Amino acid sequence: MTTTPRTVLITGTSSGIGLAAAVATAKAGWRTVATLRDTTRADALRRAAADAGVTLDIRQLDVTDADSVTAAVDGVIADHGRLDAVVNNAGAGHLGTLETDTVDDVRDVMEVNFFGVLNVSRAALPHLRATGGRLVTVTSVGGVVGQPFNEAYCAAKFAVEGYMESLAPVTRTLGVSVSVVEPGAVATEFVNNIGIDLGADMAAGPYSGALRRYIDRTTEQFKDGNAQTPAAAAEAVMEALHADRPAFRIQTSDWARSFVGTKLADTDGSAVQELTATWIA
Ligand code: NAP
Repeated sequence: MTTTPRTVLITGTSSGIGLAAAVATAKAGWRTVATLRDTTRADALRRAAADAGVTLDIRQLDVTDADSVTAAVDGVIADHGRLDAVVNNAGAGHLGTLETDTVDDVRDVMEVNFFGVLNVSRAALPHLRATGGRLVTVTSVGGVVGQPFNEAYCAAKFAVEGYMESLAPVTRTLGVSVSVVEPGAVATEFVNNIGIDLGADMAAGPYSGALRRYIDRTTEQFKDGNAQTPAAAAEAVMEALHADRPAFRIQTSDWARSFVGTKLADTDGSAVQELTATWIA
């Protein structure tokens, strides 16, 4: 019987869902490689691990830097000899619309949320094949439902979902399962990290009224107690890691399931259009 613990690598563990997933996996007995793009920002992670009485292997990994990704994955194999699961969690929101975003703005959003996932998944897959492992990616309900002023973010998350949905049957032939985890609103640093600048052109432009309504609605969604806790969202990651046969698509809450369900049954797109139009009308 093997005594080597299963090893999971998680990206973006400085805060939020990644931090909670790191602690939860370690508590569940995984050897957890908790990665951050900036390891000087690991204080909250270290505190959470200490509070939970678990040990983490904390390493540097910037998902947009292919060399950093390769070094982290190679280091895990050199030190632990195996990789059983990857949780692509790192990501960043972005608010904007076609006339206010430059194409470079959109490329930046794609770099983190889409190409970053590919960088990590490509580096990890040979090792996941060796263990019959699991590739789990935190997308969003915005990976299924397009949302106003989230054009670039949703495009990136749709891209991840399309990629992973296509990849899943391919890797399955070799014993690697692929899942996406779809959160709705989760109380993390996500909204703060977007860094909304209402003083920018957008606020003064033709979209200012609709944007204000979008922000008011979003503020309400993330208000105390309305958003899910990171620990609750991380339970869906645990399901993807532990279920005998994990579903491809796992929502983190009943609300997320119902919202995604609206889209998946909306063959002509009218239900989503009617719904999201009310957010900004
Ligand atoms: P968060 O607290 O802002 O955490 C995001 C994490 O990603 C941070 O650790 C951040 O690191 C990291 N990150 C950003 N760019 C990175 C890069 N280039 N390389 C490595 N790490 C990077 O937000 P969160 O809510 O936990 O987000 C986790 C995931 O959930 C994301 O994929 C997000 O899109 C998704 N999600 C969140 C929500 C929500 O409501 N919170 C809803 C749907 C989906 P730094 O500290 O260095 O910035």
